[in-house]
Amino acid sequence: MRHAPRPTYTLLAVHAHPDDESSGTGGLLRLTAEQGHTTVLVTCTNGDLGDVKDPRLRLKPREHAADRQRLAEVRHAELHRAAAILGVTHLYALGYHDSGMDGWDTNNAPEAFAQADVEGVAAHLAQLLRQHRPDVVVTYDEQGGYGHPDHIMTHRVTMAAIALAADAERVLDAGPPWQVRKVYYTAWARSEALRTLKLLHRFGRKTSLRDPDFDPQQLGCPDELITTRVNVRSVLRQKWRALFTHRSQMRQGDFFWWFVRLAGPWLYRYESFRCVVSPAPLHTPESDIFAGL
Ligand SMILES: [Zn+2]
Repeated sequence: MRHAPRPTYTLLAVHAHPDDESSGTGGLLRLTAEQGHTTVLVTCTNGDLGDVKDPRLRLKPREHAADRQRLAEVRHAELHRAAAILGVTHLYALGYHDSGMDGWDTNNAPEAFAQADVEGVAAHLAQLLRQHRPDVVVTYDEQGGYGHPDHIMTHRVTMAAIALAADAERVLDAGPPWQVRKVYYTAWARSEALRTLKLLHRFGRKTSLRDPDFDPQQLGCPDELITTRVNVRSVLRQKWRALFTHRSQMRQGDFFWWFVRLAGPWLYRYESFRCVVSPAPLHTPESDIFAGL
């Protein structure tokens, strides 16, 4: 008996910085690629204000413009390597400047991604949507997950682009209108965030757990909002390999490197998401982002 070929879909993920693709969706991207689907990764900024963890680079991007430029180049190369490990089919690095962490002066710099023209970026993204016709788009929630201005901006431009791509009145340089069928926000389940903090505490690491104003209700995403938990256990090795390929940001062999390897199979077995657009009622909890298509 012959089986009908399994349909293949396209997933498009929009992220803020190089390394977000690996930390937030590394498992999903790799798993989706292994299942024969097409994966498109859009990274909005060049991450040129990232914290440099590799002392050999000797870069102080917040102090020297030349270091900022150099860091952008380093991170661009790291992004390409990580995307290859994750089996990403198409990678677009939009190259906007990093806005820095929430509250930094750089948030308001005219060249910062957070200050970019939403319509303009959305039009560019909408062209990619019409070109690649993704069934599913993954990005961040309204708070950008944790309040980083570039993550918030990524949410805004992505949601605007999805509407624009579907708008038959809007003529763009790339094909007919396209309606994305499912939209997901990345989510770190509150229970998992809390478990991580407790385990880090046991390892003797300083965490916010003992802060007098510690409020678990501020951690991650409430579990009850999570619609979708994708088991990424089988691709965790590749996820960590991709994440630690961002050597300017992550040090191989340091505490965190060991931590994710030891605790990962138990603590990070799932990547969680919130489905916010779906053509049909969801059967939650979902384990497959293409379910119902
Ligand atoms: Zn980021």
